[in-house]
Amino acid sequence: MSAPGDATGPWRRGTVVVAAGRPAREPDQPLNVPVTLAAPYVAGGDREYGRYANPNWTAFEDALGELEGGRCLAYASGLAAIAAVLDLVAHGERVVVPRHAYQGSLGQLADLEARGRVQVELVDVTDTAAVVAACEDAALVWMESPTNPALEVVDLPAVIEAAHAAGARVAVDNTFATPLVQRPLELGADIVVHSVTKYLSGHSDIVMGAVVTADDEIGEVLKLRRDSFGAIPGPWEAWLALRGMRTLEVRLERAQANAAEIARRLAERPEVAEVRYPGFGAVVAAVLTDADQADRWTRATSLWVNATSLGGVESTLERRRRWRTESRTIPEGLVRLAVGIEDVEDLWEDLAGALDRTG
Ligand SMILES: *Cc1c(COP(=O)(O)O)cnc(C)c1O
Repeated sequence: MSAPGDATGPWRRGTVVVAAGRPAREPDQPLNVPVTLAAPYVAGGDREYGRYANPNWTAFEDALGELEGGRCLAYASGLAAIAAVLDLVAHGERVVVPRHAYQGSLGQLADLEARGRVQVELVDVTDTAAVVAACEDAALVWMESPTNPALEVVDLPAVIEAAHAAGARVAVDNTFATPLVQRPLELGADIVVHSVTKYLSGHSDIVMGAVVTADDEIGEVLKLRRDSFGAIPGPWEAWLALRGMRTLEVRLERAQANAAEIARRLAERPEVAEVRYPGFGAVVAAVLTDADQADRWTRATSLWVNATSLGGVESTLERRRRWRTESRTIPEGLVRLAVGIEDVEDLWEDLAGALDRTG
């Protein structure tokens, strides 16, 4: 319940990221929920123990839940959130997943399949008819859009409709788009998953995940299992995630503008065979001739950091196939560029200079 003088909505999402998840407005109270480091709480209330509840999770969950339009649960990492959702699939049921989904999601599914827990069907999400056909007999349709790192975009409304017609649930990994660009629950999806590590927290300094659902039953099951399995974030992580999320809209605006410009300029370079940019978001993929050329480029920059991950204020790049676990259908020379919020001219001079020296 909000007290007099408390923030009331509904607001636009650029305001929600700033205003949601605040403590009650009372004299001498801070504007942000302070970090609460607690294992047990004094008995007699709703919290009881640090595996069940923490005020910093709640503040973060309130904010992301409001942004995505559902109940949010925070997890220790994006992959912990994904494991919690895949655990909803009953023994022997079928899961449809993009062949170019995040490698960690594919890894979990391959492991579950190897142990006879689920059946996995990999699909090419650029072929909507094939995805729609695969929904038949599926229990869970797992989508990621855009995909990491192929940057393919899923026709979410078509896939959600087909999945529901077949009685399947739909989960969408919304890490790349963020709720400011795409809100899968509004499109009818049952579950949204985030690696909070990326854009939501935005500063490359924490690992955290989240699930959001508008389905009360799913929300209740997930909460009970998080209580018992314990894949919870620390209070510091939740506090940093919410602090980072306050600037999500301005960071994303700047990073997207930078990414569009970098993609446009890379496409003019003869050393780059192909540039992939879905037209939104801040990740760009550049395909170079081979692994060697790509490796040399990623090691020759001085402003861009050769590092994995994405979604931070600082620009990073890496050749994806340097990971043994990356999908074999991702080109050896594909470099994923996670564009940050630096001055675009400095970003370009660094990238172009490195290409001149190594391309
Ligand atoms: C990074 C990432 C994940 C995994 O999240 P962690 O926080 O690293 O566990 C899941 N999905 C996508 C799309 C990602 O980019």
